[in-house]
Amino acid sequence: MALIVQKYGGTSMGSPERIRSVAKRVARWKAQGHQLVVVVSAMSGETNRLIALAKDVSPQPDERELDVMISTGEQVTIALLAMAIRDLGLKARSYTGGQVRVLTDSTFTKARILEIDDANMRRDLDDDTVIIVAGFQGVDADGNITTLGRGGSDTSAVAMAAALAADECQIYTDVDGVYTTDPRIVPEARKLDRITFEEMLEMASLGSKVLQIRSVEFAGKYKVKLRVLSSFQDEGEGTLITVEEDKNMEQPIISGIAFNRDEAKLTMLGVPDTPGIAYQILGSIADANIDVDMIIQNVGHDGTTDFSFTVNRGEFAKAHSILEGVKAKLGAREITGDNKICKVSAVGVGMRSHPGVASQMFKALADEGINIQMISTSEIKISVVLDEKYLELAVRVLHRTFGLDQ
Ligand code: ASP
Ligand code: MG
Repeated sequence: MALIVQKYGGTSMGSPERIRSVAKRVARWKAQGHQLVVVVSAMSGETNRLIALAKDVSPQPDERELDVMISTGEQVTIALLAMAIRDLGLKARSYTGGQVRVLTDSTFTKARILEIDDANMRRDLDDDTVIIVAGFQGVDADGNITTLGRGGSDTSAVAMAAALAADECQIYTDVDGVYTTDPRIVPEARKLDRITFEEMLEMASLGSKVLQIRSVEFAGKYKVKLRVLSSFQDEGEGTLITVEEDKNMEQPIISGIAFNRDEAKLTMLGVPDTPGIAYQILGSIADANIDVDMIIQNVGHDGTTDFSFTVNRGEFAKAHSILEGVKAKLGAREITGDNKICKVSAVGVGMRSHPGVASQMFKALADEGINIQMISTSEIKISVVLDEKYLELAVRVLHRTFGLDQ
């Protein structure tokens, strides 16, 4: 008997039929004698609908109130799934984040999980009950409803698995695993049987939307055995996300090509080239809770320098207006911005032992006449910022260049 945490995403919960089909899958696992905790997302499109509705009423909705509202999508699906499972003759019980007590900090709309109380769940599991938990939500110490950021139910599931020391955390989604790149862009993309946490972290952070990045960090930190599988197929092992690199197999140099469209670039021109500049610029951005990705500061001349960084496209306007304030304070010359950029990256632990990957990548892009605007590298990743219009072409070319088509 194993304790398994399963997570079903929005598409898997997208209609009454699909919810009943998830119930049947849960019942099959239960019939094998396992204990089950099931974390669910809202029905697909629901969170978007709720956010749009809020913005229709209030252009910059208060974030506490936004969380009260957007957490309701999951409250609907936990109850529906519990009903469907009960109709199959099993015991099932739904829990909101607050009822479990998923304790988070108070950063509304992107709260972090601090602690999960497993007492209620343990009691129900011992009573042979299937537990259905609302993903994406928690409560802060004052009992305010919080949400964990878009795609946050993945993190809910992994956190649940860590708290319960589950044997496996299975993420059921609309794809059957993690691919070398998005098959909608490259039809030749292949499913990976396994990928390391490190690679997955890079793939997720670079916009491979299969898993929320925080869930992968969590799984790596707490050594949760994590598997991505399709909720539309009965067979298949999905992709296992492992700590260990597979020693028995020839490690490919590049495991995947990741990309992110939702990027924007901001540049402050003519910043005085003095100590503390990076801190003053990025400190004020961080104070507004905006994540910064790539950062470039040019060599100074004539006592000034140019400073560029990228942020999520959704935070472009906010970051821009913060920079206006910083610009006045620092006496910088000008701010320029571009919210039509994308980032494309080659990821692979095999890169560690193979020099020359970067030049191979730059040559492939140059051969297609694609201009690179920014570059950043880590031990297992090379990323480039490009004009958004080159995204598909760049992904296809790099997928081929690194032999991922075969
Ligand atoms: N329903 C939430 C969202 O769309 C959480 C999730 O699906 O993971 O972001
Ligand atoms: Mg998701």
